[in-house]
Amino acid sequence: MASLASLLADVRACALCAEHLPLGPRPIVQIHPSARVLIAGQAPGRKVHETGVPFDDASGDRLRAWLGISRQVFYDDRQIAILPMGLCYPGTGKSGDLPPRPECAPAWRAALLSRLKGVRLTLVIGRYAQAYHLPDEHASLTEAVRAWRSKWPHTVVLPHSSPRNNLWLSRNPWFGEELLPVLRNRVAQVLAHDD
Ligand code: SF4
Repeated sequence: MASLASLLADVRACALCAEHLPLGPRPIVQIHPSARVLIAGQAPGRKVHETGVPFDDASGDRLRAWLGISRQVFYDDRQIAILPMGLCYPGTGKSGDLPPRPECAPAWRAALLSRLKGVRLTLVIGRYAQAYHLPDEHASLTEAVRAWRSKWPHTVVLPHSSPRNNLWLSRNPWFGEELLPVLRNRVAQVLAHDD
């Protein structure tokens, strides 16, 4: 098996679906074999493409609040791995960012995931990550989030933390009242190696 450094060099040189990327390839990934929490997200947005910093936007601010962690912890690759389903910004359509490029996960995801030996909690964010990480889970995203106890304590499905999801959050108050408090406790437990 190639080293993680060699794999990352290959990922960063990837241009597999460049013809479909309006701003060109810029894979965004945060990974270290020691990471305890995996954030399996969707795809970088335009701002993240420009900065190269994952979740350095309103979605990230909300996600950090959901998890109860600081930016310092969030961007510590020895604690948090960030691996979106599509590693590059896919462009924007009429109703928001386009889906992750379908070429990406088959090309890179299994190899990257195989380097994560210490993950104790996977946060599956959005329906594309749900389809990959929980292929036998046919519930809608809302149903899968609501059934969070079924995969507890190692996998949790979350809605995207984008401001575009404000309506979903207001329609599902149980998410903030019931799930987020125990999720914060679980994240703290995992990061403290108390699992
Ligand atoms: S989205 Fe994935 S497959 Fe496409 S160029 Fe970026 S890294 Fe390569």
